Amino acid sequence: MTSLPSSVDIAIIGAGAAGLGAAHALKDSGLSFLVLEARDRVGGRGHTVMAAPDVVFDMGCGWLHSADENSFVKIAEELNFEVNKDLPPWRERAYGKAFPQEDRDDFIHSLDGFFQRLHEAAKSGHDSAADLYLEPGNRWNPMIDAISTYINGCELDQVSILDFDAYEDTNLNWRVRRGYGALMAAYGATLPLAFNCAVTLIDHSGKRVRLETSQGTLTADKAIITVPTNLIADETIRFHPALPEKVDAAAKLPLGLADKVVLALAEPEALPKEGNLRGATMRTEMGTYHLRPFGQPCIEGFFGGRFAQTLEDAGDGAIAAHSIDEIVSFLGNDFRRKLKPLKESRWAQDPFARGSYSHAMPGHSGKRAVIAAPVDGRLFFAGEATSPNFFSTAHGARDSGERAAKEVLGTMVAR
Ligand SMILES: Cc1cc2nc3c(=O)[nH]c(=O)nc-3n(C[C@H](O)[C@H](O)[C@H](O)COP(=O)(O)OP(=O)(O)OC[C@H]3O[C@@H](n4cnc5c(N)ncnc54)[C@H](O)[C@@H]3O)c2cc1C
Repeated sequence: MTSLPSSVDIAIIGAGAAGLGAAHALKDSGLSFLVLEARDRVGGRGHTVMAAPDVVFDMGCGWLHSADENSFVKIAEELNFEVNKDLPPWRERAYGKAFPQEDRDDFIHSLDGFFQRLHEAAKSGHDSAADLYLEPGNRWNPMIDAISTYINGCELDQVSILDFDAYEDTNLNWRVRRGYGALMAAYGATLPLAFNCAVTLIDHSGKRVRLETSQGTLTADKAIITVPTNLIADETIRFHPALPEKVDAAAKLPLGLADKVVLALAEPEALPKEGNLRGATMRTEMGTYHLRPFGQPCIEGFFGGRFAQTLEDAGDGAIAAHSIDEIVSFLGNDFRRKLKPLKESRWAQDPFARGSYSHAMPGHSGKRAVIAAPVDGRLFFAGEATSPNFFSTAHGARDSGERAAKEVLGTMVAR
């Protein structure tokens, strides 16, 4: 932990994946820089906890999406973090009778058909809401919407088809055995950081950028801003002079909601390792469950969109309670005594995130470029929402930080 100096060359706001990526890219520049972080830890929406002595749990990001293009894979190798390459259980594996294989095949067929129609529609270049491409009357529509709440953090009526189509999924998803958040913590370990340092105002009216923080004021030549869009949209962090186009862009790229829960599982051998459990419930308000991730004695649950918000609103413990009820409804009452709540996330309640990951509202796919654009060669913007193709992910965030740092260095060379 570094105490706050009165002045640095570059201030980086936020020590999530983007801030860490930016800081690493400045390490050998000869410039002085400091990462200002509101929390008492690095990682932001990447946060690993030991939910039990034998259960590693990522409260936020867990998957190295698009693993063959994911810059965290190389970082994991360099830092000696084991990368697990087992297939994710989302599509291929289904446990129990709650979602019979025949139904599952039919569902996957409908889901793939929907994605294909969306892709075709996006080719026109005209934006619209993704729910328009559901097949009228298809019995799987509510469940396709549930999948959207996992992928986008929101239902399809709030998703821009052009933005959705711009995402690059290479269909390779790996994991970090000790946790994605733990990897970020190690990645950030050697950087100059000021914790418990919430920036409230970025005053760029004068010759130098002046930052008001909960630890006092500091000035910088330039600032890299990596905070989640919801905090810019609701002006928790303010600019002077105001930047209405950034606030507007941030509001059109809101963070949707995804929440996770982990339950201890007694007699784990009764269930398969790396299995998937969900019901053919024909509704959007459903969880999806990962059985014994890494073979651990636990079940992880995942919820998204309005249903995740409803569960958060119901108070602490509601996600775990709902999960236990739903799992018991699939597997039988005998399972109730085998399950115990360990940990659950509540990302909407988190004051420094206010949601999980960004999506573009219909008609606003172009806002990612707006939020990413530098201002006056002094304010630079990074964070997952600024990524043109890997938005909503940790590696997209990290790469955006590196991109912003390079923009900063570019302005120095140009001077
Ligand atoms: C439940 C869940 C599951 C996910 N699953 C995956 C996954 O499997 N794979 C994947 O790639 N991604 C996943 N993600 C998304 C991924 O975690 C994020 O996209 C990524 O971590 C965002 O990084 P960031 O640096 O842009 O933002 P953040 O991680 O939010 O970092 C921003 C930082 O700024 C700090 N901050 C905020 N306000 C201030 C302020 N005023 N002053 C100073 N500091 C401030 C915050 O505390 C935070 O540390 C998931 C997210 C969630 C919530």
